[in-house]
Amino acid sequence: MARIVMKFGGTSVANLDRIRAVAAIVRREVDAGHSVAVVVSAMAGETNRLIELCEEAGPPAPALDARYVEHDAVVSTGEQVTSGLLALVLQNLGYRARSWQGWQIPLKTSSAHGRARISEIEDTMLGDAIDQGEVAVVSGFQGISPQGRIATLGRGGSDTSAVALAAAVKADRCDIYTDVDGVYTTDPRITKQARRIDRISYEEMLEMASVGAKVLQTRSVELAMAYKVPLRVLSSFDPPDAPGSGTLICDEEDIVEQNIVTAVTPDLNEATVTVHAIPDEPGRAAAIFTSLADAGVNIDMIVQSASREPGFANLSFTTKEADLDRAVEVLNGVKSEVGFNALQSDRNVAKISVIGVGMKSHAGVAATMFQTLANKGINIQNISTSEIKISVLIDSDAAEYAVRALHEAYGLDKAK
Ligand code: ADP
Ligand code: ASP
Ligand code: MG
Repeated sequence: MARIVMKFGGTSVANLDRIRAVAAIVRREVDAGHSVAVVVSAMAGETNRLIELCEEAGPPAPALDARYVEHDAVVSTGEQVTSGLLALVLQNLGYRARSWQGWQIPLKTSSAHGRARISEIEDTMLGDAIDQGEVAVVSGFQGISPQGRIATLGRGGSDTSAVALAAAVKADRCDIYTDVDGVYTTDPRITKQARRIDRISYEEMLEMASVGAKVLQTRSVELAMAYKVPLRVLSSFDPPDAPGSGTLICDEEDIVEQNIVTAVTPDLNEATVTVHAIPDEPGRAAAIFTSLADAGVNIDMIVQSASREPGFANLSFTTKEADLDRAVEVLNGVKSEVGFNALQSDRNVAKISVIGVGMKSHAGVAATMFQTLANKGINIQNISTSEIKISVLIDSDAAEYAVRALHEAYGLDKAK
C-alpha cells in the first residue's frame, strides 16, 4: 500500500462532468488499496473571475497591503468549491471522503498575500486519515498566514500545495494531472512538432518552470527537488482504465538518454524598461535596483550600455508585464536621486529560452541559437545564461516563429 498525492488542475475540474471523470481516476487508486490525498484547483476560469471581481471592488492593492488579505479571502474560494464537490461525488460513489481547507491541515504560509510561501506543514492529521481509508480532498492554492488569515500561493499554486503535502506525508509519489499528457519539448499549443518527454531532471524542470513553462509552478519543482518527491505529470483526459505514462521528474542519474537541449520555452509575459542617461558612476545601479526590490518588483535580464553622451550609461532590464506599471512608478519616484534623463518601456517582447543539462559539457549551443535566429531575421535585444539555459529577448511578434525554428534546429521535432 502506497501513499499517493494526486493533483487536478482547473481544466480537469472545469464542471461536474469533469469532476466525475476525476473521481473515476481517484477511485482507481483507492480500489488498488492506496492511501490517497487529492489536491484540487478552482474550476477553469474561476480564479480569473474572482480576481476581476476584487479589482472591480477597488483598485488592485500592492502585496502586503491590508486589502490584499481580503483579496486572498475571495480568490481562495474557487478551490473550496471544487474540494467540496469532489468529496460529494466520491461519497455518492460509496467512498469515505472529506474536504480539507488550507487552515484545517494546517498548511502554514508566510504573510506575503497573493504570493505566500509555505513555511511548514506540521503534525497534519491528514496522513492518518488517508491511511484509515478516507480520501482527503484538499483545496489547493491556499494556506494560513501567521496572522491566521487565508493566504494564497501565487498563480498555479495548487501544484505547490500538492508537492508540499506529498513531502509532509512522505508520499510515495505525487501525480499532477492536467490537460496535457506530460511535459513536452515545448508548449504543445505552439507547435504540433512538440514531443512528450518521458523523463526530465528536477534541475531542467526547475529552469523550464522558472522561465515560463506553465505546466508546473516553479516552487513546486523546488520543493520536489529538495524533498526528493517523485513527481509525475499526467493527463486527466486519458481513460481511467488506460492511463498514459506521462512524464517523470526525477534525478539526472535516473535518465539514460540525455539530449543536449531538452526543451525550448517561450515567455510572453515579459516587459522591458530602459533607463536613459544615468551618470556613469558607482551607486546609481544600486539605487535603481534597491528601490525596485523594496517595492517587490522582480528583475530578470539586465544590460548596461554606454550612452551617446559621454559620462552617461543606459540600463535595460526585464520584469514581468504585471509588474511593469509598478516598476515605472517606482523609478519615476527616484528620478532626481538617480539622476537619469528618461524612461522607456515596452510590453511587446518575449523571452525564449533553451534548456538542457547537456549544455554543461557541450560547446556550440549558444552559437546554434544565435545563428538560427539570425537566419530567420530575428533581432536579439538581450541575452542571459545559466549553466543549463540560454535566454534571449526578442520582439513578441516573432516568438512563435522563433520557438518553431529553435525546436527544429536542436533536433527536437517529431520524427518525420
Ligand atoms: P492546470 O490547470 O492543470 O494546472 P496549466 O494550464 O497550469 O494546467 O498547465 C498546463 C498547460 O501548460 C498546458 O495546457 C500547456 O499549454 C502549458 N505548457 C507550457 N509549456 C509546456 C510544456 N513544455 N509541456 C507541457 N505543457 C506546457
Ligand atoms: N486556481 C489557482 C490559479 O488559477 C491555482 C491553480 O490553479 O493552481 O492560479
Ligand atoms: Mg497550473
